[in-house]
Amino acid sequence: MFGKMRYFLVTAVILTMVFVSQIAFAAGVKYLFLFIGDGMGLSLVHATELYLNDIKSDTIGKERISFTKFPVVGLTSTFDAGRYITDSASAITAIMSGHKTLDGVLNMDTGKTEKFTTLAEEAKAAGMKIGDLSTVSLDHATPAGLYAHNPSRNNYYDIALELAKSGFNYFAGGGFRQPTGKEKDKESIFDILAREGYTVIQNRSDFENLTSPKDKVVVINPVLDSEAAMPYAIDRGAEEFSLAELTRKGIELLDNPNGFFMMVEGGKIDWACHANDIRSAIGDILDFEQAVAEAVKFYEKHPEETLVIVTADHGNGGLSLGYALTGYNLYLRRIENQKISYEAFEKKVKDYAQNTPKDKQSLKDFWPTVQENFGFLGLTPEEKAQLEEKAKNGDKDAKETLAMALTDYELSRLEKAFAASMSEESPKGDEAKVLYGGYDPLTVTLTHIMGEKAGISWTTYSHTADPTPVFALGANAELFNGYYDNTDLYAKMKQALGLGVAVTQ
Ligand SMILES: [Zn+2]
Repeated sequence: MFGKMRYFLVTAVILTMVFVSQIAFAAGVKYLFLFIGDGMGLSLVHATELYLNDIKSDTIGKERISFTKFPVVGLTSTFDAGRYITDSASAITAIMSGHKTLDGVLNMDTGKTEKFTTLAEEAKAAGMKIGDLSTVSLDHATPAGLYAHNPSRNNYYDIALELAKSGFNYFAGGGFRQPTGKEKDKESIFDILAREGYTVIQNRSDFENLTSPKDKVVVINPVLDSEAAMPYAIDRGAEEFSLAELTRKGIELLDNPNGFFMMVEGGKIDWACHANDIRSAIGDILDFEQAVAEAVKFYEKHPEETLVIVTADHGNGGLSLGYALTGYNLYLRRIENQKISYEAFEKKVKDYAQNTPKDKQSLKDFWPTVQENFGFLGLTPEEKAQLEEKAKNGDKDAKETLAMALTDYELSRLEKAFAASMSEESPKGDEAKVLYGGYDPLTVTLTHIMGEKAGISWTTYSHTADPTPVFALGANAELFNGYYDNTDLYAKMKQALGLGVAVTQ
């Protein structure tokens, strides 16, 4: 009898504890930030920390970036309904709606008939304001994941129409891929946005004059690339916006008594990984981190009411911190020699190919542009021998200069790639796919060699299936501890907001 009584009491205490903890969660956070580093796998985050240490110190170690210091760390699996390797559309559908779907599908089921309600829509229905920011176009898969329901992420115009109808309060970053439709025969999305009550800002002075209270705003960076995305952080001009600025403005405009939900995507981290460009990827992670820092500042003012989550939708590029020819060493400092992104360099290659007579085109002739932007050196055997002698005697500068000199192996790859870049026909076949991945042959060979000199290498130009990290800070952050699926992020965020039932941990 006594045993039974004790069992009853213990059970009652446990049930009370569970109940109390759920009450605490049910209170919900008022401000939720979700940062998504697109394609930002763990090895890339780690490479960024090693790089920061390497440029500041001669000692082995790591310099922490803010979000890896968050008190809660989790891991998510990312496979979708049809493949082990997800794309950004099925990944954001999992995160925003809690459902697995097929690659390319946005917030619809695998049969492409049922539409899923997103967490952003639920938060809006609960009275919160919504912010949706990305360095890529606002109709791109990840930002679209908050408001769009479409069988294909490539239906940019239809997706933009959903943006205009979303009623969300603040969009910022890139522009629109097909503002007048695929065939350029539809009503301009800008006219539709105006009709729906949105103010569209596209320059710095209007941006600076934008003050609270101002609702329904779309901010587009003054400079956009060919896909309506913002340029890479390493190529940014003074008149352009940084992701941190856009985030800070978002906080100012969205703050209200009912709270807000803001998603901020570092979208070109992913694109740099597709192109196997480590310098641009790290540059955009550091820029993304500055945006996270704005949310952390806000959290410090409202620690009981704010939750900051930083995650990635999938890995990309199969980045390995290690390379066959550098053994157990990493020299991440060397990527400092790269001055512009692959995207900006590709333009220089194209210009050269178009404006130089065929019989004048040579790698030697183009070499000053290569050296200026990648810091690679073409040394004579005598120059190499002299430097080797100095390096042997402990001269560190000589060692580094030598390291940036091209080996015969590297030079032969560049000659082959240069010829392919100058050719009218793009190279075909499996070897070309492995060597160049559809990118400009010379540029991608240069970014590969840059990575290799730093001791890193890539295995694919596509996404990868590895689990991605989740870093959480603030109220209800403990929900994000552990190893779970990307669909669980939806339930956990919903619980953290106090919008839904408790999640079993
Ligand atoms: Zn992605």
